[in-house]
Amino acid sequence: MLQRPGLPRHGDRPACNVCGDALRFPHSRSQDDPAFPTCSSAECQYVASQRSRLAPPVFAFRLEFQGRLIRERRAREAAENKQVAETTAREALEHQHILHLASLRKPDSPDRPVRLVSIPSGHTTTTRLPGQRLASYRAHLEDLIRRAAQCTNEMEALSADTQAAREKRIDTERLLHANPALRTLSDKLCGMCKGGCCTAGADTAYLTVATLRRFMDANPDLSAGDVLDAYLSRIGLETVEGACINQTSTGCGLPREMRSDTCNGYYCASLLGFHAECRDDPDIGTLLAIRRAHSNWRRFDSTSGNDIVEVAWVGTEVFLPVDILPVARDEGGTLAHEK
Ligand code: SF4
Ligand code: SF4
Ligand SMILES: [Zn+2]
Repeated sequence: MLQRPGLPRHGDRPACNVCGDALRFPHSRSQDDPAFPTCSSAECQYVASQRSRLAPPVFAFRLEFQGRLIRERRAREAAENKQVAETTAREALEHQHILHLASLRKPDSPDRPVRLVSIPSGHTTTTRLPGQRLASYRAHLEDLIRRAAQCTNEMEALSADTQAAREKRIDTERLLHANPALRTLSDKLCGMCKGGCCTAGADTAYLTVATLRRFMDANPDLSAGDVLDAYLSRIGLETVEGACINQTSTGCGLPREMRSDTCNGYYCASLLGFHAECRDDPDIGTLLAIRRAHSNWRRFDSTSGNDIVEVAWVGTEVFLPVDILPVARDEGGTLAHEK
């Protein structure tokens, strides 16, 4: 079997000619060129497929360049996965300590089951809305309204993308409709988080042609200018910094019926996990919410500590803050409470 000289081998096993990973089998059945074995990944096989079409020096250059990109990306992904696994394990340990301490102030019977939900944090600093952001949002709306006017109804305006968002929103509504307590608790958790997922809304707010068409269908008497005014009138003079243009200090400025399916159907991984647990076991029990400092999109960002900033027992009728902060760790990773 031919191997490029200098490529790493894993013990006695031959390595992929592109990425250098050990080959599980000497010859993959999907390989076109058994003299130039690659691993089973599509990207390595694609690089190898160019061997028969390119002049050897050109192929050698491509192989070196693309192989390096693949190896670097995989190394980055492996480091990220490790970081996620370590962070998840460390946070789970901290959550168990918090649960232990908070149990002293559990608002109901000690025998009631406890569910633990860790939520992110939205941004809260407000700033005067920059004219440039408003202009960009306005241009986005004008484009959506123009394209929505060319469709006869919402269904026609749905692209493959927005169709998926619509189905997700319908699924979410179905679940929450069947379990009103779950809806109330989810709203409370999102209120406590203050839009940790809205930080990525920027100046488009996930609005789509289908959202605008749906709003126009529900309000057939409104002209295109009226629709534009309806959306722009929900924007305040102040907006939350580094977040969706519609996010204010008191939450989203858009009523639900004007929001996108993405906004109406989205729940972060924490709440999805909570929903999944309750789908299997409808007795919600008592909820201990632990809020961490980072937004939903920076949960595993290691550039700053994702500290616990708020803890509360949350029930449909109860919101009981638990004062056990700060949760400090020394350099050895030991929790202050453990000493
Ligand atoms: S879905 Fe998650 S990230 Fe978004 S507001 Fe609710 S708790 Fe926060
Ligand atoms: S429109 Fe509202 S719910 Fe959607 S991202 Fe913006 S602030 Fe969040
Ligand atoms: Zn490979």
